[in-house]
Amino acid sequence: MNLSYWEYNSWLSNLDFTVVGSGIVGLTTAIAIKKRYPKAKVLVLEKGILPQGASTKNAGFACFGSISEILSDLSTHTEKEVIELVQERYEGIRLLRKMLGDKQIEFMLFGGHEVFLEKDKALYEKCLEKRLSINRLLRPIFRGDAFQLHENNYGFQNILPRYITHEFEGQLNTGMMVKALLKKAREKDITILNGLAVEQYSEGVHGVHVKTNEFEFKTSKLMIATNGFATQLLKEAVQPARAQVIITRPIKNLAIKGTFHFDEGYYYFRNIDNRILFGGGRNLDFKTENTTQFGSTEVIQNQLEHLLETMILPKTKFEIEARWSGIMGVGQQKRPIIKQVSENVFCGIRLGGMGIAIGSLVGNKMAQLVS
Ligand SMILES: Cc1cc2nc3c(=O)[nH]c(=O)nc-3n(C[C@H](O)[C@H](O)[C@H](O)COP(=O)(O)OP(=O)(O)OC[C@H]3O[C@@H](n4cnc5c(N)ncnc54)[C@H](O)[C@@H]3O)c2cc1C
Repeated sequence: MNLSYWEYNSWLSNLDFTVVGSGIVGLTTAIAIKKRYPKAKVLVLEKGILPQGASTKNAGFACFGSISEILSDLSTHTEKEVIELVQERYEGIRLLRKMLGDKQIEFMLFGGHEVFLEKDKALYEKCLEKRLSINRLLRPIFRGDAFQLHENNYGFQNILPRYITHEFEGQLNTGMMVKALLKKAREKDITILNGLAVEQYSEGVHGVHVKTNEFEFKTSKLMIATNGFATQLLKEAVQPARAQVIITRPIKNLAIKGTFHFDEGYYYFRNIDNRILFGGGRNLDFKTENTTQFGSTEVIQNQLEHLLETMILPKTKFEIEARWSGIMGVGQQKRPIIKQVSENVFCGIRLGGMGIAIGSLVGNKMAQLVS
């Protein structure tokens, strides 16, 4: 693109910080930088016309870790590490709610329920056995007993009669959350340009030279928040993981409220606007889902529809209104990568399936790395 003198001077000269990616991490990074350095010139570049990774595609669970996940983590981590993981998620949601306000993101505290399939009876019994001790372990964080038993009040089928609920988990409206973050960023005089993909960068004496699909420019610091797409720019241990979602048309008198997950968290559903949003099934075909390409596959879509029909809404007529997918960034380890990559380049990536919970914290931490 042949930029005019005016275009270059107004948008791309004397940039102090350029953030790549306008998901929850990119936007909170930019906002936190502006808070630290109010006079800094901050630019956010986003390859999509809208933010286009996971932050606008997800299920909007404000979750901290189900009982079976915590049990599994306790077999590979120390108690202290597990408490830290849960604490970070709780802090992240607290930060997001404080920054944007519950009304702006439609935050609702309906609880997060772990539903157990009949095949998972042994796991359920183990969770039951450990419930009180895990509640004790997490009491300092939640100041109450997180995990409670609930009857299957919503008539789900092919599951065990009771599920284990995290009383302090909630749900939010993902689209409203990103819109509120964009609004906040614009109020802080942060420039956001869409439709621009950063293709490569190189560090020089005067900062970082950035090449996009349209033009090139210089910035003092580069902050990379591209999560599942991270390896296109960085050599870090992050893999893309696609997740497919379906949503029903509004259902009359829908009673189901809350966030639900089953099969080790590989499936998740919730109510939203009298509809059921249902996602997951990546475990049916990890290989195909290890991609940065959006899309859906027959095997996963069929299974989602089948479970919706036989398990979640067995007695209710419904129609599917829409289908989409999002790209997460995952790795062997659960912790995100928040680090200085080189003198003037930083990253906050690999948020796994908990990015709503920890995203704002990751952005804030990345902003603290710069000096
Ligand atoms: C279907 C689904 C359901 C989920 N459900 C939940 C949930 O219920 N609760 C929860 O806590 N988490 C959930 N997650 C995970 C959560 O959404 C992510 O962890 C989080 O959104 C990651 O945020 P991010 O800002 O790091 O990445 P993203 O939101 O992916 O943002 C990265 C951005 O960078 C842009 N980008 C990439 N490469 C470039 C480039 N070269 N140049 C410019 N821009 C670029 C992308 O377009 C994208 O907008 C879910 C994810 C999916 C996909």
